[in-house]
Amino acid sequence: MVIKLKYVFGPVPSRRLGRSLGVNNIPPKYCSYSCIYCQLGRTPNLICGRREFYPWRDVVNEVINSVKTIGEENIDYITFVPDGEPILDINLGLELSGIREKVNKPLAVLTNGSLLFKEDVRQDLYNADLVSIKIDAVEENTYRRVNRPHPSLYIERFLEGVKSFTKNYKGKVITETMLIKNVNDSIAEIEKVAKFIKSIRPYKAYIAIPTRPPAETWVQPASEETILKAYNIFCEHIGQENVELLVGYEGPYFEAIKDPIESLLAITSVHPLRLDYAYAMLEKYGLNPETVLRKLACENKIVMLKYKDQKFVMRKIISRS
Ligand code: SF4
Repeated sequence: MVIKLKYVFGPVPSRRLGRSLGVNNIPPKYCSYSCIYCQLGRTPNLICGRREFYPWRDVVNEVINSVKTIGEENIDYITFVPDGEPILDINLGLELSGIREKVNKPLAVLTNGSLLFKEDVRQDLYNADLVSIKIDAVEENTYRRVNRPHPSLYIERFLEGVKSFTKNYKGKVITETMLIKNVNDSIAEIEKVAKFIKSIRPYKAYIAIPTRPPAETWVQPASEETILKAYNIFCEHIGQENVELLVGYEGPYFEAIKDPIESLLAITSVHPLRLDYAYAMLEKYGLNPETVLRKLACENKIVMLKYKDQKFVMRKIISRS
C-alpha cells in the first residue's frame, strides 16, 4: 500500500534506505540553499532561521497512523525528505522523538547540513538513526556556485558544523556529493571534497548526478569519465566499501538479483567494475564476456572507460527526460 497524505507519502523504494516512508515537514519551498540542480526549482523562500511550519503533533500523529495502516513490517525507514530543508523546522527534534516513542522503525533525515553549526540543530538530529548530509563543495566559490546558500552562510561554518555533528553523533552518517559539469567536477575539487569526507568517516559516501530536470536548464551532469575518476578518487581516500554511485538507478540491490547480466548491470550502476572482474563474473556463468559486453554497450546500457591503467565497465548514466 502506498499513501499520500498531508505530511506523509510512500513507502517509496530507495536503494539507500529500502522501503522509505517519507515525511514532508516543510512547505514548498523553504530552503537555506537554492542549488542549481534542485529538482524543486529555484528557492523562493531562501531562509536560514528555524521556525514552525506545521503543528508538530499533527505531523507525528499522521506518521503514527500511516505506519499502523501500512504495517511496520512493510517499512524500513521513516525519512524526513521534504519539499525544502528539514532542519529549518524548529520542531524537528520533537517530531523525531514523538515518532520514536510510538514507532519501532529507524528514523532518517536527508539534510543539506547548512545549519549544523547550530547547537539546537545538532541536538535535534541526534534523535535520528541516520543522517544524510549534502557535501558538494568545500571551497567558498564553488559552494556559492553550486548550492547558492543564503548570504549569511559560509563554507567554513558549514564544514565546522558537519565536523562538530559527526564527532558526537552515534547514528549512521552518509554523504551525498552531486557532480555538475564544469561547476564542481574538476579533479582538484573532487580531491578536496574526498579528503574532507574522509575526515568525518561516513558509513557511505555517495557520488550523484542530477537525473531529474534541474532548477537551471544549463546544468549538466558530470561526464561518465569524470564520474569514474571521482569514484576512484573517493575510493582511494574513503575506502571502496564506503563509496557508491547514485546515478539514477534505484532498483533492487544486486545481491537480490539472480540473472548474471541483470546483476552486472546493477553492480556497475553502483560500483564501476574492472573489466577483468566483469569477464570473470560472466565466465563463471558460462557466458561469453566479449559478446555480452558488446551487446550491452550497443544497447547503451554500459560504457567502457579507462582510469589510470585499468579498464572499467560502468552503467551508462540515465539522461534527464
Ligand atoms: S538543499 Fe535540497 S531542497 Fe534545498 S535547494 Fe538544494 S537540492 Fe533543493
